[in-house]
Amino acid sequence: MIEQSDLPERIRALVAYSPGLSMEEIRQKYGLANIIKMASNENPLGCPPLAREAIVRHASSAFRYPRGGNPRLAQALAKKHGVNPDQIAIGNGSDEIIDLLIRILCEPGKRSIVCFQPCFAIYPVQAQINGIETRRVPVNEDFSFNFERLLNAVDYATRICFLTTPDNPSGYCPPKKMVRDFARELYARNAKCILVIDEAYMDFAPEEKESSLLASGEILPNTVFLRTFSKSYGLAGLRAGYGILPEELASFFWRARLPFSLNILAEEACLAALEDAAFRETTLKTVKKGRETLASGLIELGCRVFPSSANFLMFAPPANSISAGELFEKLLQKGIIIRRLTSYGLPDLLRVSVGNSRENRVFLSVMEELL
Ligand SMILES: *Cc1c(COP(=O)(O)O)cnc(C)c1O
Repeated sequence: MIEQSDLPERIRALVAYSPGLSMEEIRQKYGLANIIKMASNENPLGCPPLAREAIVRHASSAFRYPRGGNPRLAQALAKKHGVNPDQIAIGNGSDEIIDLLIRILCEPGKRSIVCFQPCFAIYPVQAQINGIETRRVPVNEDFSFNFERLLNAVDYATRICFLTTPDNPSGYCPPKKMVRDFARELYARNAKCILVIDEAYMDFAPEEKESSLLASGEILPNTVFLRTFSKSYGLAGLRAGYGILPEELASFFWRARLPFSLNILAEEACLAALEDAAFRETTLKTVKKGRETLASGLIELGCRVFPSSANFLMFAPPANSISAGELFEKLLQKGIIIRRLTSYGLPDLLRVSVGNSRENRVFLSVMEELL
């Protein structure tokens, strides 16, 4: 019989991912009729109508295997970003792309990755599962990035440097020039190290073209860009993300990926979501306006709010009042789920996703009640 001690050390060291209580559990535990979930940065308007239609229309194709390589979606994404379809990687969420990049680029025990602390948990966790060391570099006290320190953590063995912009959980978005300069300096220091720029939230930035090297077409030889259908496209539950990679790397991505990891309904939904311009426009408007409403409301209540270019806000409860943990619990009791940041190493901070106008209003009025 297999015992724990038979498993590889790197697997025994894994900590179970804790997704928090589900909406159903909260409803039952506190006897509530309505729950508001502002915890996972999902689209506050739900699923794009055109994607919904496409899922229904193609439901009877569910017995078919998808086409390998998802060529139609790759074409559509290449067109959207003005790149060659051979540069596109598509995965079961960008999570799958992150995992595969680590496996393709890094030899276990020999290569390492570098990222900021705090950062999106998937980077270090997938590195650990794959036997790759992660070097962490603290962000500045105000959660801005110290690129010099990041560069100094890179050595000859580093194969990937992960950068999230806008960042999760803070919402910080570094100026494009700083990212460009960093990419160039990184290339000069170690031309074999790939800079993965995770732009999961970039379309929520006030001026996307001012913040994204991808949006302005500046694809450098050592950069990979990640985007997702989970946030502004409103398809988190279907699991679809994509990347723009150097062609050589993309070809190995497709060789390493499980052939059918993007399912047939997800592919149809993504194609339709790309066409749903009205839904996207409303989404971006709703999020940008909601972000303002939430930020000014929280500031008025005495919270410290960190500037955000994403569809969420990181904040601290007013000094000398209730603790972040207590506030989180009290919100739960009122049926509002937000995100604790303990697992990011930030026990005194909370993150709230921008909701629709009703959700934002309810959240702020409950907060006023509690503070
Ligand atoms: C939400 C998020 C993603 C998207 O992940 P999917 O697997 O595509 O749902 C990627 N990166 C960051 C930093 C995120 O917060």
